[in-house]
Amino acid sequence: MALVACPECTHQVSDSAFKCNQCGHQLRKPKRGFFGKLFKWSFILFNAAMVFWLFSYIGVIGESMNTSQNEYEQAGTAIGGTLGVGMLLVFWVLVDIILGMFVLFTRPKGA
Ligand SMILES: [Zn+2]
Repeated sequence: MALVACPECTHQVSDSAFKCNQCGHQLRKPKRGFFGKLFKWSFILFNAAMVFWLFSYIGVIGESMNTSQNEYEQAGTAIGGTLGVGMLLVFWVLVDIILGMFVLFTRPKGA
């Protein structure tokens, strides 16, 4: 650990510090590590994929509702579709919570 002079107030601060402890000047920006970025992007991509999946799934249910031969078949499709969407939403929320925790744990420190 070395000491460097703060460009704002010339106070000697550690070169591993993000901020000057004298004047609060930001010395360098905390960066997300490799895993931080990985989790952040998988979080974003997962949500985008789930939105896309949900809409295409609803589209498929709507289509089979129209092509169903009788009301029993339609009821079956409606119940199955509702269960499927429900399970998809539970899965979505669970993965979001887990990924969200990783995103929080890997966020830059010292800011
Ligand atoms: Zn300073």
